[in-house]
Parts: sequence; C-alpha cells; structure tokens
Amino acid sequence: MARYTGPVCKLCRREGEKLFLKGSRCVAIKCSFERKSYAPGQHGVSQRIKLSEYGIQLREKQKVRRIYGILEKQFRNYFAKADQLKGVTGENLLRLLESRLDNTIYRLGFAQSRKQARQLVRHRHFMVNGRLVDIPSYLLRPGDIISVKDKSKKLSVLHDSMRKVRDEDMYPWLKLEKAQIQGTFVDWPNRIDIPIQVQENLIVELYSK
Ligand code: SF4
Repeated sequence: MARYTGPVCKLCRREGEKLFLKGSRCVAIKCSFERKSYAPGQHGVSQRIKLSEYGIQLREKQKVRRIYGILEKQFRNYFAKADQLKGVTGENLLRLLESRLDNTIYRLGFAQSRKQARQLVRHRHFMVNGRLVDIPSYLLRPGDIISVKDKSKKLSVLHDSMRKVRDEDMYPWLKLEKAQIQGTFVDWPNRIDIPIQVQENLIVELYSK
C-alpha cells in the first residue's frame, strides 16, 4: 500500500498543531512546530485565511488522515466500512483506525511513532496470535495478541521505545505485558479513551455531501 513520503513536520504546520509524527523529536526542542508554528510555504507567515465550512471539514479529515498516516483512497475505504457498522459513523471510523496493527504497536509503546511501527511490521518483526503479519493496516479484533518474533526480541529500537512505557499507564483497550514484549487488543476503544482532539462528525459531514 502506498504511503506519504514527503516532509512530515510540514503536515503539523499545515494543520496548525503538533500531530506527533516523529517520535522523540516531537517532544524535544528540535520540533519544527515549536520554532515555526505558521503554515509552510512562501505566504505561510502572513496567511490569515478564514476557512469556509467545507474548509473546516476538510482540515479535520486531513488531520486524522495524517495522524494515522493514511492516503485518501484508503481513508475513504475506512469511512465506507465505518458507515456500514452499527453506531455512530465518526466513532466507528476512529475505532477502525485505532485497530490497525501499526497504530496498536505504537500505542503499546513498541515503536516511537506510527511510521516506525509501520516499518517494523514491514520488516516482519511482529506476530498476531502467533502468526507473522507484515501488513501495517491489518485490523485487529478483540482478543488478538501482538507479540515480537523471538529473533527480534533484542532489537535496540524496540527496547529504546519501551523504556518509557509503564504497564499501568496503558490505554484502557490494550493490555501490555512488558516482560514478554507482548500486548493484547482487549476490546474496541471507547471514543472518550482515544486521545486525539478531532471532531470526527465533521468528517462524516464532509463525506456525506
Ligand atoms: Fe510535528 Fe513532530 Fe515534526 Fe514537531 S517534530 S512538527 S510534532 S512531526
């Protein structure tokens, strides 16, 4: 599946907030947004555009897409799937995105960013229920166990990420067993527990036009 390969800090500047796409750099002084919090481009500093209703909806959709590292076509597919499920479409959309394998590896603390998690999955370091999975967009189901291949358990990148994580601080829908370097996708997350500041109803309005 294709992915965005351009400069990621520009995405934060475009959205006007930190999207935490680069792991430890995002909490360091080097963060581009801390130094240049205006939109990228020649007119970024002076840009004062009042967004239309459509513009606001579009920005919200772009923000979610960029946080999870998903291109437009795939994002639309997630939306179509969320729309078919019972319940609130916007919340279903976020639940689906949260259940991606790369996102879950990031949330479990096995990687410092979703991008790094994606790379680790592509490099065949992770298993789901004991079977190797190298598809970052693999959707987990409640009860699925994510573990690291025996050969990969000594990876320094894995241990560097895990150093900052504590079992007791884990998200309510995930269970981390740090000693075994494994985690469980216990249940679908509740919207209130998903720590991203977006108005997902605006994405539903955008796609419902
Ligand atoms: Fe965004 Fe992280 Fe880059 Fe800062 S360092 S601008 S938070 S991606």
